[in-house]
Amino acid sequence: MKKAMRGLAAFAVVLGAVSAARAEEKPTFKAGFAERDVSPKIGDEAPGGYGKAYHRTFHDPCKARAAVFDDGANRVAIVGLDALFIRGKTVGEVRTAIEAKTGIPAGSILVSASHTHSGGPTGLFLPGEFADASPLVRDMVEKETVIADAAYLEKVKAGIVEAVVEADANRVPARGGAGFGLAENVAFNRRFLMKQGHAMTHPGVGNPDIVEPAGPVDPQVGVLGAWDEKGKFLGCVVNFACHCTTGPGGISADYVYYIERAIRGLMGDDAKVVFVPGMAGDVTQVDNRLPYQAAQFGEGSARLVGGTVGAEAGKALVAMERQAGPMVPVAATSRKLSIPRRKPSPEHVAAALELIQKPDKASVDTTDWAFAKETVVLDARIAREPVVETEVQAVQVGPAVFLTSPAEYFCQYGLDLKAGSKFPFTFPVSLANDVVGYVPHENALDPQTGGGYETRLTSYSNLEPAAGRKIADALLELAAGLTPGVAPRAPALNPFTGKPWTYGDRRPQLD
Ligand SMILES: [Zn+2]
Repeated sequence: MKKAMRGLAAFAVVLGAVSAARAEEKPTFKAGFAERDVSPKIGDEAPGGYGKAYHRTFHDPCKARAAVFDDGANRVAIVGLDALFIRGKTVGEVRTAIEAKTGIPAGSILVSASHTHSGGPTGLFLPGEFADASPLVRDMVEKETVIADAAYLEKVKAGIVEAVVEADANRVPARGGAGFGLAENVAFNRRFLMKQGHAMTHPGVGNPDIVEPAGPVDPQVGVLGAWDEKGKFLGCVVNFACHCTTGPGGISADYVYYIERAIRGLMGDDAKVVFVPGMAGDVTQVDNRLPYQAAQFGEGSARLVGGTVGAEAGKALVAMERQAGPMVPVAATSRKLSIPRRKPSPEHVAAALELIQKPDKASVDTTDWAFAKETVVLDARIAREPVVETEVQAVQVGPAVFLTSPAEYFCQYGLDLKAGSKFPFTFPVSLANDVVGYVPHENALDPQTGGGYETRLTSYSNLEPAAGRKIADALLELAAGLTPGVAPRAPALNPFTGKPWTYGDRRPQLD
């Protein structure tokens, strides 16, 4: 008996050693999610245009949505904010606070704005930014342009920090996966080559002068999902390229609200959905070639885009669930970029100054006035900051990589990133960690065939024509410096050793 006990004990020691070795081999993967409501108040400024507008009704909450991923050695945080954009300075502040509270390195934190046009005032300019400018410029910024509200910015910053801190605390051993859905016919390139010979933005539904779209769309819905070890769905990160401009009416996360509802319907009411927008600088829900009368804004439009994208994300999630496993390694890398602004000519500025100072503002075309105002503010912005210092970032979660641009970046660049990256799941993310306005594709800036809204010089959009390619090249270099992890897969089937099902192994009974 004693001898047998000793033998058993020795066997247990050996087993213990084996399982310890297995535990070492088994990669650690943890995931945590959390969100905070950062809705603006009724009466707050509603950004989205070049002039003033105010919120009058509430539709659904604007959120800071956070995911934290951990491979045992590194952690990264991915934040999707329901806002038009977020300035680099604001991102710097929340990163510092998050690093202090969690130890997640500032450079491993990705904060992107969904670009909802129904969110709160996070910009464009920050309070006091033009305090020392001429009275004329100050008036143009403070009275004629959307500016951030100091109290609202504090709410947003606190919401992001709290969401990431809670997501970090919520981290549990997890299984994850990545995949793609395909949302076709809900997002459209809004730029067209016209019979006139140059490109226009939104030439009008049914305009007979439309020759063809001037750029592509990207119908892929990128998804990264995570489950706990018991199989409970924790949350996901969803990536899709389409302007958040459906406007269901009032304060809203726009179509992201319906993405969340669709995914929660399938995966559970407490599922967290972190939305990071793709490269949608030239892509919206409006189909300028729609051959019938139908609303392309409002509730139905939000439901169409969000429901389709959410359903496609859900399809990808339920397909990846059976194969889910550790999504490792986890890593982040970034690079600073210095990009000169393009300057309006002295004549352009002089004409703009003359126009905005006309005593009878009502006599001036409102579009002409808005762009003249923008030219004057841009001129003042260039005087203080001729070169934009910004950042591109690559955040890796196993076989997936998020490649971020601070721009409203054109869709073609997103496709270029997907084609040029060796990662099986490349998720291009726009309006991330900063905002530098529209950065059009080179084609759109061609003096003969280019043109359109995104190529107009404003205080918002003004980077040199080479900016787009510089950003894409830098991102592909960052991605090339990372090694994709192996996509999780269920174990291969063992050779068949069983027997056919005994109920189902007979010839037909015809007697
Ligand atoms: Zn936009």
